[in-house]
Amino acid sequence: MCGVKGKSVIVTGSTRGIGLEIATSLLKRGARVVISGRSQDKIDAVVTELSQFGEVVGFACDVSSFESCQTFINRAIEAYTKIDVLVNNAGITKDNLLLRMKEEDWKEVIDTNLSSIFYMTKSITRHMLKNKSGNIINISSVVGITGNAGQANYAAAKAGIFGFTKTIAKELGSKGILCNAIAPGFIETDMINTLPEDYINNIIQQTAIKRLGRAEDVSNLVVFLASDEASYITGQVISVDGGMI
Ligand code: NDP
Repeated sequence: MCGVKGKSVIVTGSTRGIGLEIATSLLKRGARVVISGRSQDKIDAVVTELSQFGEVVGFACDVSSFESCQTFINRAIEAYTKIDVLVNNAGITKDNLLLRMKEEDWKEVIDTNLSSIFYMTKSITRHMLKNKSGNIINISSVVGITGNAGQANYAAAKAGIFGFTKTIAKELGSKGILCNAIAPGFIETDMINTLPEDYINNIIQQTAIKRLGRAEDVSNLVVFLASDEASYITGQVISVDGGMI
């Protein structure tokens, strides 16, 4: 097998933004894709839109709930029999300076960005062990490496992904299962739409190539990591940040 053709891939948080671009790129290259998000209505609309590119199904899932992740993974396996790749992409921000950050905003961000990755990975591992192959790609963030004022919850969650990724790579590598993390810089999506213009201009100045990232800058790497050509890469954190760090 070459590239991602014929592989079945789950992409969490794929109703918009980076996840939607990842799902679209994979479909265009011949993969079968399971998309997800919190609202089944929204998912159904995206499935209809994406069907022009290939075979796609979608199920609602709240990634911050272990039970919801288990049900979702079982439905995905039922739909495609074998799942080759899991892309843990769903994420949120609830920014505030530490003194103003509410406990509920800390918990929600940790649950949605970090615990979700444990829930999804744990739910699919038995299936991948049975297949003697699997590939897990976790979408983290550059702020997990650098820290960022106003994002203690988000930066902690994204940094936690690195330790989890490296550990899973070591635990499961000998069983044919790969696990890597991607650390995007600032990418033009809904997530950063609300940031002030000055802030964005400052971010652009911090990049070597003087622009924000695009969703396809991230999806191109996901497509490569999901392919057979990347089968000797595991336990890595790869930045896609236009040279920010
Ligand atoms: P968006 O806000 O554009 O999209 C987020 C996606 O996650 C949506 O599909 C949303 O689906 C889904 N989602 C959110 N919460 C949940 C939940 N509890 N359960 C299931 N799905 C959920 O974000 P981006 O595309 O920008 O970000 C994608 C990933 O990339 C995130 O992990 C983010 O942290 C990371 N990232 C983004 C950067 C950026 O600059 N944009 C930079 C670095 C990393 P719905 O609303 O339909 O439920």
